[in-house]
Amino acid sequence: MQRFEGALIKKRKPLVTLVIYGKINQDLSNHLYESFFKFLQSIDDNLEYTPEINVLQMPNPQIEEHGKEEEVFSRELDKITGKIVVGVTEIGIYDRGISRNIFGFGKAGAGLLSSYRFQESSPKKMKERLGKEIIKVFSLATDVWHCRNENCIVSYHRQIQDLDRNRGVCKECTEKLIKNINQYMED
Ligand SMILES: [Zn+2]
Repeated sequence: MQRFEGALIKKRKPLVTLVIYGKINQDLSNHLYESFFKFLQSIDDNLEYTPEINVLQMPNPQIEEHGKEEEVFSRELDKITGKIVVGVTEIGIYDRGISRNIFGFGKAGAGLLSSYRFQESSPKKMKERLGKEIIKVFSLATDVWHCRNENCIVSYHRQIQDLDRNRGVCKECTEKLIKNINQYMED
């Protein structure tokens, strides 16, 4: 899609590669793409280029040992082309430090979302919550860390229900994201 800024057509530039791993179905991956796309569109006026999202489909990597999921996926994500790479998998990412599966992780241009703990909710709720959590993982991958504002998507989520209080990304995080996205697109 082209956007018109007065008489100028803004240039498009590849930014994100969305990697759909394993058994994530078409309906959910479309929803995640849409959520992502809408978010980027909402800040497009402040971005130097209109970002493009590429979608890739891949099998889940082999996890040699329980608890190594983050390490294995990080290695996989690093091999994929894209300024910022965000993966989605149905596999649980077990964090030994806290003895539970986490929703996702991200830093330095790569992140992963796990739908594992979201499966207990209804399909509708699951889509709604994951549509928010993907923005959170993207923020982490873009080096915007946990926010203290409970209403913000970038805030810490202990339970999947915690996402229900989030309506969007707060002003402060949005500003940080814009700054970081512009930087990632330049690099
Ligand atoms: Zn925030």
